[in-house]
Amino acid sequence: MIKKAIAVMTSGGDSPGMNAAARAVVRTALYEGVKVYGINNGYQGMLDDDIEELTSRSVSDLIQRGGTFLGTARCPEFKTPEGRRKGFENLVKRGIEGLVIIGGDGSLTGGSLLSKETGLPIVGLPGTIDNDVWGMDYTIGCDTAANTIVDAINKLRDTASAHRRIMLVEVMGRNSGWLAMMSGIAGGAEFVLVPEVKFNIDSMCEEIKAMYDAGKRYSIIVVAEGAGSAIEIGKAVEEKTGIDTRVSVLGHIQRGGSPTVEDRMKASMLGEKAALAIISGASDIVFGFNEGKVVGVNLFEAVNNTKTLNPELVRLARVLA
Ligand code: ADP
Repeated sequence: MIKKAIAVMTSGGDSPGMNAAARAVVRTALYEGVKVYGINNGYQGMLDDDIEELTSRSVSDLIQRGGTFLGTARCPEFKTPEGRRKGFENLVKRGIEGLVIIGGDGSLTGGSLLSKETGLPIVGLPGTIDNDVWGMDYTIGCDTAANTIVDAINKLRDTASAHRRIMLVEVMGRNSGWLAMMSGIAGGAEFVLVPEVKFNIDSMCEEIKAMYDAGKRYSIIVVAEGAGSAIEIGKAVEEKTGIDTRVSVLGHIQRGGSPTVEDRMKASMLGEKAALAIISGASDIVFGFNEGKVVGVNLFEAVNNTKTLNPELVRLARVLA
């Protein structure tokens, strides 16, 4: 069934490329002659009736921008069935017949409940720097964030080397070690600590001491936030090795910035795919990329399964350290 009006929203943590994805949804819908609404500030805007019709111009000058022009928010009320019903009614009164949600695991979980309880067709796009959505190896924004981290590691390496220091870099990712592992390998880190793999600080410190005794001038340890606090780990490392240690917690700088070509292209392709799917009557699908190809994953499976870290990356990080 061809839809007459759809809506698009961004939700949860923002990520570079969300704009490119939303832009592609809007322009594809308009190209197909379908009305498209933007919901501001995620589920909060859905509940507050903060919804407006978008035109092609609404998404001008956006593809190069990080963040999300629609805004995003956390909305505890949406976790209740009453909250979801209220949001649904604001869509129905405008004749909105399908919704594209761009967000992370939490946002897609909210979408799966909305679909189940109201029958509203939902298509999801994985918008998160964490790359932690099951069934795919790419999420919108992960490439830009990984590049931002590698850029920071490059700079930290210069100063670490000058002072013969150990440098710890704490990176985002919530419960996922993907960002840490990718940026650790690409940044040439000596150690990458991730929540998915047990690590032993004592043996790591022994290895570092041996490396310094053999003449090494610096080492970089990337710490995924889910693996523990880099500040605490850094204190222990300095104590155990006796080597000058510094810690950088990169924080929200990882979320911002102009998206990379990869994020812009993939977000654009996924946005088109999502719009065409929802317009033609599909529902309960999350589109992402896996091994370079677009994949459609069942929404309920995507939110009910936990993605694991590719063991090949873990192995490679150790071999190349
Ligand atoms: P992300 O989408 O980046 O994982 P959050 O986990 O903060 O971000 O989720 C964003 C929003 O999605 C929440 O503020 C809430 O409105 C909604 N949400 C998250 N988890 C659920 C849930 N279990 N049930 C219903 N809605 C949820």
